[in-house]
Amino acid sequence: MPEMPVPSARLMEIPAALVPHIVLPRLELLSEARTRGAECVWGGERLTIETAIDLRVHTNNGFNWYPRACRRCTKAAVRTARDTHPDQCTECTGPTKLCETRRALHNLLMELRR
Ligand SMILES: [Zn+2]
Ligand SMILES: [Zn+2]
Repeated sequence: MPEMPVPSARLMEIPAALVPHIVLPRLELLSEARTRGAECVWGGERLTIETAIDLRVHTNNGFNWYPRACRRCTKAAVRTARDTHPDQCTECTGPTKLCETRRALHNLLMELRR
């Protein structure tokens, strides 16, 4: 009997606690396809269930939108979030004193590189 393909691909979700640290494009600049997650919110790449990374629901003035992104753009955005975070954080006081959020952003970036 032929082996059944294992459904290994599942939609990767950015942890809710980290989403606010990741800077998204401004809603008013986005096409409808980008606000509903059909295309990468940053680069406009067409997304599939296998390639999309879910950035969760966002609400602006009562309007819900559902940004998703490709892995390459997500990596870049998470790297920026990780690298700029300590400058804006009172808990991160040096390379050896980094807060949980900074550590979580780093771990997320490592996960995206796999
Ligand atoms: Zn992209
Ligand atoms: Zn911090």
